[in-house]
Amino acid sequence: MPVYNPPLRDMQFVLHELLGATDTLRALPRHADIDADTINAVLEEGSKFAAEVVFPLNLSGDQQGCQLDRATHEVKAPQGFRQAYAQYVAGGWPSLSCEPEYGGQGLPFVVNQCFYEMLNSSNQAWTMYPGLSHGAYEALHAHGTPEQKATYLPQLTSGEWTGTMCLTEPHCGTDLGLLRTKAEPQADGTYRITGQKIFISAGEHDLASNIVHLVLARLPDAPPGSKGISLFLVPKFHVHADGSLGERNGIYCGGLEHKMGIHGNATCQMVLDGAVGTLVGQPNKGLAAMFVMMNAARLGVGNQSLGLTEVAFQNALAYAKDRVQMRSLSGVKAPGKPADPIIVHPDVRRMLLTAKAYAEGGRALACYCALLLDQETHHPDEVVRAEAAELVALLTPIVKAFLTDNGFQSAVECQQVFGGHGYIHEWGMEQFVRDARINMIYEGTNTVQSLDLLGRKVLGNQGASLKKFGRLVETFVRAEMGNEAMAEFIQPLADLGQKVTQLTGELGMKAMRNADEVGAASVDYLRVAGHLVFGYFWARMAQVAQAQIAQAEAAAQRPDSFYLGKLQTARFYFARLMPETSSLMRRIRSGSEVLLDTDAALA
Ligand SMILES: Cc1cc2nc3c(=O)[nH]c(=O)nc-3n(C[C@H](O)[C@H](O)[C@H](O)COP(=O)(O)OP(=O)(O)OC[C@H]3O[C@@H](n4cnc5c(N)ncnc54)[C@H](O)[C@@H]3O)c2cc1C
Repeated sequence: MPVYNPPLRDMQFVLHELLGATDTLRALPRHADIDADTINAVLEEGSKFAAEVVFPLNLSGDQQGCQLDRATHEVKAPQGFRQAYAQYVAGGWPSLSCEPEYGGQGLPFVVNQCFYEMLNSSNQAWTMYPGLSHGAYEALHAHGTPEQKATYLPQLTSGEWTGTMCLTEPHCGTDLGLLRTKAEPQADGTYRITGQKIFISAGEHDLASNIVHLVLARLPDAPPGSKGISLFLVPKFHVHADGSLGERNGIYCGGLEHKMGIHGNATCQMVLDGAVGTLVGQPNKGLAAMFVMMNAARLGVGNQSLGLTEVAFQNALAYAKDRVQMRSLSGVKAPGKPADPIIVHPDVRRMLLTAKAYAEGGRALACYCALLLDQETHHPDEVVRAEAAELVALLTPIVKAFLTDNGFQSAVECQQVFGGHGYIHEWGMEQFVRDARINMIYEGTNTVQSLDLLGRKVLGNQGASLKKFGRLVETFVRAEMGNEAMAEFIQPLADLGQKVTQLTGELGMKAMRNADEVGAASVDYLRVAGHLVFGYFWARMAQVAQAQIAQAEAAAQRPDSFYLGKLQTARFYFARLMPETSSLMRRIRSGSEVLLDTDAALA
């Protein structure tokens, strides 16, 4: 059976020693009184809920999957999911970072981020039921009418109701401009919505008393393409003026997808048969309104893979210490045993360290982004808010795609540590691999994320946002230039920063001549940019660790092994993972022709 120990020590390191989260938060009037003890206490309680309530349902949920009753269109989640959700609601967990105005606890986003990482490690499929509600909350908060907010936000905050996002149709996924679902205006100001949606996560289930669907559809006079899409709120049950539930609405689950992973989450084909909905935001501006939910979900998907990377690593590490096979090449390491534990073998360590470096680098980046979101939402200075928003926009595709690519790679490496046992269900590793795979696909495939990064966020503003992140790197590099102990990190980081600047300039020029150069470069470019971001955070983590080690040595004390481990992982990252950027850049420079001048090869 798999194990999971919430990484509270590393979360505290990232929040308090690396990012100085409480200082950043106290500059925001909303969080002026926040302190490290409060954050740590909430996360400790949250870790118990994740590890003790949600984690034990992961393997069984995967085995059982969801059941659709075709007569009633009701879906049953796997055994125990409903009870765990009731505990989640009773514990007040849905409301952690929601607005007090709607019954929320008003805690920083970064606290919710860490809590959700633990939920994702424990059970990605279960976590998607409440997880999508946060995006629905954000979209309604930003674009809902006062009535919509008053009716729906308190229920989403308390977790009484959950939310979905209904974008995809059988013939349209990436290209939402093709969608056909229709919305007919009614005399009473509502709309009758008709069409079919597919792949809708948590579209139907028995965890909550109502489901709030956010649905993209077209008005009768809408222009074609993405400029003619509107957003509608369609509840599973109608809601009376006093907030009580009425009849079922004309939206129901017509079938469940049979899929590779996340079996415990209901992926639904949703039929809209004249369902009654209300408009969210402006007519034909639905995509922009939905982007609030999509951006939240993109960060959330990165967090799903962060959770999986951590739990896969923990299990592989425990196994590698226990499993004995063969002797170490450099001589017997465990003479009392018939063979050495496999952790003595260099390549097993490579696999373990890959997952550890990606988990801890990902945690630093994800927490950094969540703190930026706190600043974007609550900082009193407009300029700080705008700068935080710009950085979040730049980093969102990197969080979504880099963390999920790394998460899948890590899950596979950790599965490999188990040898044949990694392929067997009861060890849990093959489930982590299957579950991790979807994160690279949904919420905009990783290819789409890379086009967003290179085409819109980097070249779209002549590299201005990238330069802003580059300035953070430069400031850190300059400050550490004279520190000899940091040279092994600072030099490759500075070198990569310069190379990214040069590469971006080259791509900008090529793209002006031929737009396909962007599509040919973007996936590799996102990985290069991801390594620049991870390099920055790993160098900073190494610096904090080195300072702690030096302090202990100066006081003639043994350094804390946590910091020694951090430093060793930083060295591994710079020596073994970041150098991937050299071949990526070579690939990028090979250009689009080698891909597109291939009609004979692909005939
Ligand atoms: C388990 C699961 C849960 C999901 N949950 C939801 C949900 O809750 N709500 C929802 O609305 N949707 C959901 N989805 C849908 C998901 O977001 C889409 O599957 C995804 O966006 C891709 O769309 P598609 O499958 O139609 O692929 P397509 O759009 O057909 O793409 C096929 C391939 O072509 C590539 N491609 C397309 N356009 C380009 C381009 N311009 N340049 C380069 N490559 C391109 C894609 O990257 C992909 O590799 C879910 C899907 C799954 C499998």
